[in-house]
Amino acid sequence: MLVTNLVNVRYLTGFSGTNALAVIGPHRRTFVTDFRYVEQSAEEVDPAFERRRAVRDLLQDLEALLPEGELRLGFEDAHVSVHTHAGLRERLSERITLVAVNGLVEGLRAVKDGEEIARIRAAAELADEAFERLLADGLVGRTERELALSLEVTMRELGAQRPSFDTIVAAGPHGALPHAHPREEAVQPGQLVVIDWGAELDGYCSDCTRTVATGELDEQAREVYALVLAAQLAGLEGVRAGMAAREVDNVPRSVIERGGHAEHFGHGLGHGVGLEVHEAPRLAQRSDDRLQAGNVVTVEPGVYLPGALGVRIEDLVAVTEHGCEILTSVPKELRTVD
Ligand code: ZN
Ligand code: ZN
Repeated sequence: MLVTNLVNVRYLTGFSGTNALAVIGPHRRTFVTDFRYVEQSAEEVDPAFERRRAVRDLLQDLEALLPEGELRLGFEDAHVSVHTHAGLRERLSERITLVAVNGLVEGLRAVKDGEEIARIRAAAELADEAFERLLADGLVGRTERELALSLEVTMRELGAQRPSFDTIVAAGPHGALPHAHPREEAVQPGQLVVIDWGAELDGYCSDCTRTVATGELDEQAREVYALVLAAQLAGLEGVRAGMAAREVDNVPRSVIERGGHAEHFGHGLGHGVGLEVHEAPRLAQRSDDRLQAGNVVTVEPGVYLPGALGVRIEDLVAVTEHGCEILTSVPKELRTVD
């Protein structure tokens, strides 16, 4: 199998640079990069791999890395462009049949070992600390952009490589957009503020959302918050190995439905997190995934009322045989911050 997706290359070999591929077969493991990464790869790449340096582009000498005779070469069709595929076909002789392989490495990545979970836990702890520092400085009067930037800078100061995705800070009606971009608008008193952030540490990501109040809220806002919190807690109860992802999604969804907001929860319950912030498995109505011990997933129900407010509460959890371990430590009861 030819592995060209860099996240998958990293997972299999340990290499964190930006140009490499791996060829993996029953009797061979080969890693190819260019001259810029020769030293880095000598440090990072698993010694089980034979390391090669490409003279021109990485695929140039691919055929020479493959065994003799007729063979089938898997490629990652979800990641290989039409252009690259044509180039591959042109360079490889007729004896080689290209076979589309989808999700093979992603399936391995979905189940984390203890060391990976420890890294994700460390990323989550760092992100939690950054969030507490943000709240300690107050929210009211600062713009969404300023708050997002401050959170991102603090995460880097605490040792994160980078935020694991663009931080969301969305106050009041803006919170009704699940993927809101922070604006140059100051947070007002008496609003709900949705903050969704994560840190990347040692290559692994965290992901968390909290919704905080900036003063006295009206009844609707308090009710929606209580409903989403009840749904989120119910969602956590449903997480354990062997559960169908759609069943896990159903539990909090029915809580929100009973609260009269079914149409205001338009996204899935959660997603896997690891080297990427969105990976397998997917917790959603249309997911065919089944939870396994070692999955790390988010549980993030939300209610979004257009023109009024949004509430989302998201925890990161590691799936175990009988339940889950919550990796997020930030409290979830409604907090008021000036
Ligand atoms: Zn998130
Ligand atoms: Zn998420």
